[in-house]
Amino acid sequence: QRLVAAAADGEERAVEAALRPKDLGEFIGQERVREQLDLVLKAARQRGGTADHVLLSGAPGLGKTTLSMIIAAEMGAPIRITSGPAIQHAGDLAAILSSLTEGEVLFLDEIHRMSRPAEEMLYMAMEDFRVDVIVGKGPGATAIPLELPPFTLVGATTRAGLLPPPLRDRFGFTGHMEFYGPAELERVVRRSADLLDVAIDPEGAAEIAGRSRGTPRIANRLLRRVRDYAQVKADGAITREIAAQALDVYEVDLRGLDRLDRAVLDALLRLFGGGPVGLSTLAVAVGEERETVEEVAEPFLVREGLLARTPRGRIATPAAWAHLGLVPPQQSNP
Ligand code: ATP
Repeated sequence: QRLVAAAADGEERAVEAALRPKDLGEFIGQERVREQLDLVLKAARQRGGTADHVLLSGAPGLGKTTLSMIIAAEMGAPIRITSGPAIQHAGDLAAILSSLTEGEVLFLDEIHRMSRPAEEMLYMAMEDFRVDVIVGKGPGATAIPLELPPFTLVGATTRAGLLPPPLRDRFGFTGHMEFYGPAELERVVRRSADLLDVAIDPEGAAEIAGRSRGTPRIANRLLRRVRDYAQVKADGAITREIAAQALDVYEVDLRGLDRLDRAVLDALLRLFGGGPVGLSTLAVAVGEERETVEEVAEPFLVREGLLARTPRGRIATPAAWAHLGLVPPQQSNP
C-alpha cells in the first residue's frame, strides 16, 4: 500500500482503533460539523429520543467512521457498522435492520454504492421505521410489513452529490468534512504520539503534519513510520530533523507527494515541457497504467494546484516547476 494512500486496509483499521477520539471534545478540527452535530445530539438527548439520520460527506481518512462512533457514544447507544458494497440484496439490509435495537446507530459507509433494491428499502426504513419483506416470487409474492425500532442511520459518502436526491433528502443533517489545516494535523500527530507513548517535539509534529495531505489517517500512518525510524536510527524521540530524514527515506516529500506523484510531474515537466500532453502519453512515459495516473496520482496533484486537466491535455502549473526546482522554458515569441 502507498504510504500516502487515503484509504485503509483491514489491518490498519485495527491499529487505528486505538487512536480514535472517543467524544466530540477530543475530535480535532471540523469546527462547523462538530458544532452542528453537537446541537443535533444535545437536542435529541433533551427530548429523550433518537437522533435524526446523519449524512457525512468527505474524502477517505477524514474521520467519518470516527464521528459515527462518537455519535453513538454521545447518545449512549450501540453501533453497527456495515457498508454499501457489503449489502448486495435487499434481504441483507432487511436482516440488519430487523436486528437493530431501539436507538442503535447504523453506520453505512460508502452508502452511494448500495444496490438499488436495498436503497429503496432504506427509504421506507428511514422515514417510517418499517420495511416490507417480500416473501415468495412472481404473482404469488406478498409483502409482509415489519415494524422497526427507531434508529439513527449515519451514512458516509465521498460526495453527497453521488446520492440520489430521494435518499439525500431523508437525512435530517448533512455534515461536510473538509481537509484539515496544518495546525489541526499537528494536533492530531501530537495527540497520537501521546497515545503511542512516543516523544515528539512541536517541530517534529509540524514536519509530519505538513506532509500528510490534509488527512489524519495519513498523518497517523506517517507518524508510525517515523517512530520506527527514530527507534532504529536514533534514541526514539522525534524531532524535525528525524522526521524529515525518515520521510525522505520513505520518499514522501515536503508537500506530501510520493514517488509516483513526483514521477508524473517530472515526466510532464522534463519530457513534455509542462504540457499539454494526453493522459495516455503521460502514463506511458512514467511506465504506469492510465488509470493509475488518473485515479491515484492526479487527484492530489490537481488539488495541490500542481497539475491541471484541460481539454487539450494535462498541463503543469508554475507551482509544479517551482516544486521540482526546475525552470519553465521561455515562452517563444513568434
Ligand atoms: P474511510 O472513509 O476510509 O472509512 P474515515 O473518514 O471513516 O475513512 P476514520 O477511519 O474515521 O476515517 O479516521 C481515520 C483515522 O484518522 C483514525 O485513526 C482516526 O483516529 C483518525 N482521525 C480522524 N479524524 C480525526 C480527528 N478529527 N481527530 C483525531 N484523529 C482523527
